[in-house]
Amino acid sequence: MSTDVVPGVACPMCGQRACSDLRKFSLGPGKPVQCRECGARISVSWATGGVVFVLLNATASLGGFLVLGAYTKFVGAVSFLGALALVVFGAIILVVPLAWVYMRHIPLSVRDA
Ligand SMILES: [Zn+2]
Repeated sequence: MSTDVVPGVACPMCGQRACSDLRKFSLGPGKPVQCRECGARISVSWATGGVVFVLLNATASLGGFLVLGAYTKFVGAVSFLGALALVVFGAIILVVPLAWVYMRHIPLSVRDA
């Protein structure tokens, strides 16, 4: 197993980097990817993928509305577009680190054909 492979994208079969970080983010439990080194079909397990999906959505919603809530409380009312921008901003600042953890540290698993 080579040492420079990020755990989150290491192939469970051959130990090589199986796909790019972005590729991993786009694959889900229902969308396996082929390891580019050994061709094994790999994906994130259903349980892991489901938990991460729910967590990402919950975190995004929470972050968005926390930022919006804080802004309207301390600064004042905002327009609809302003509110939308604040929600998106809050979602992004909470989701980005979570997505990073997902890409780097949630292991891939071999998917049974
Ligand atoms: Zn492989």
